[in-house]
Amino acid sequence: MPDPIQVIDNLAGRVTNRLLTRFPGPMVEVRTDTPIVSFTFDDVPDTALSKGAGILEAHGGRGTFYIAAGMLGREEEARNLIDAAGCAELVARGHEIGCHTHSHINLRHASRRQLYNDLSHNADALAAISPNLQPRNFAFPYNSGSFRQRAELARRYRSSRGGLPGINRGMTDRSFLRSYALQQPDESVVGMRGLIDEVVSNPGWLIFFGHDLSPNPTPYGCTPESFEGLVRHARERGCALLTVNQALDHFEATT
Ligand SMILES: [Zn+2]
Repeated sequence: MPDPIQVIDNLAGRVTNRLLTRFPGPMVEVRTDTPIVSFTFDDVPDTALSKGAGILEAHGGRGTFYIAAGMLGREEEARNLIDAAGCAELVARGHEIGCHTHSHINLRHASRRQLYNDLSHNADALAAISPNLQPRNFAFPYNSGSFRQRAELARRYRSSRGGLPGINRGMTDRSFLRSYALQQPDESVVGMRGLIDEVVSNPGWLIFFGHDLSPNPTPYGCTPESFEGLVRHARERGCALLTVNQALDHFEATT
């Protein structure tokens, strides 16, 4: 039997996310002749580095990896998370490190001060790995948006990524970017080639987010083969495979 408090909280989260789309925050104009696809990873499992980074590179792209530094090096039952050396390696290979809070808190449950301290903690932890490691973009843990925290996020980051589906086009809320989950079942990941075809026929900014890449993925991950198929399809259809920060640079240069 589901926990009724959890059920109500999940509902409140969904309502908040919908309201955020009705009352958007700071905008970026997504205008592009080239279809842009960003592959992002949250948390980040070590297989996103050992498999995902190389697949992106083989197709001329780079990814954005949203790190919760409090989880670095953590060993879980179904996945291990990358450590400080993994973050440094991603940066050295040209990928982007984003912020995913330090403790993976749900922003709706945190006070402003808690979030301020948590984000500062994450920034300090990442800067200790490398002074060049200064995240410019953010992803909401649990894809859970928050009105209360929006100003602090806008002050610190160029963008914040949520998890509501949709291709970003035209005037776009940069504080709640839309994205699609690369998760189980694997057939849904294969089916997302259709989204790539859509962004090719009407150029915009398509963002994916995933977690682990494993032959036996968690419910929140997918297989390396499905991921590679999607990246290959995007490349073959002429999409630019950009990090979130590179995509924002592109839109700001063209508007
Ligand atoms: Zn997460």
